[in-house]
Amino acid sequence: MSQVERKYYPFHDGVKPDAIVVHCSDPRFQDAFRLFSQEELKIEHPAPIVLPGSVSSVGVDFAMPKHLKTLKDQVEFMLRAGKEPKLVLINHEDCKAYEKLRGFFKKAIHNQQADDLVKAAGLFKKLVPALTHVRVYMARLDPNQPIEKRVYFEKIV
Ligand SMILES: [Zn+2]
Repeated sequence: MSQVERKYYPFHDGVKPDAIVVHCSDPRFQDAFRLFSQEELKIEHPAPIVLPGSVSSVGVDFAMPKHLKTLKDQVEFMLRAGKEPKLVLINHEDCKAYEKLRGFFKKAIHNQQADDLVKAAGLFKKLVPALTHVRVYMARLDPNQPIEKRVYFEKIV
């Protein structure tokens, strides 16, 4: 075995999530999601649930019920691990995962994304009755801004 110097990283012992944040895996948006959670929403210890298309499984439940079941189980599990259950749901503009599902939707993708967020919020409130704090956002792109600050967040609910 070669002598590789081991690197070490922080471990936040005893930390419980302030909020569960569900968002897409798209690497172009990860910094924006993280900074938005920390700086704008003031979530100190977010517990991200990251998956392609975020809550898109809500909109294609009829075609892919197992995807929605998995999302529900993950969110419920993480909510029960938190101090007080808070949930943030985010979709984003130009989502390739939503593009891929386009054939299932009867409406324009941006409308579908907003509807899915609202539907998901209702669904999780029903699933975890103690859940009172749910916020829903769309990450949008402003083409008039330089790339390092092109993403902004619009509150849906
Ligand atoms: Zn996406």
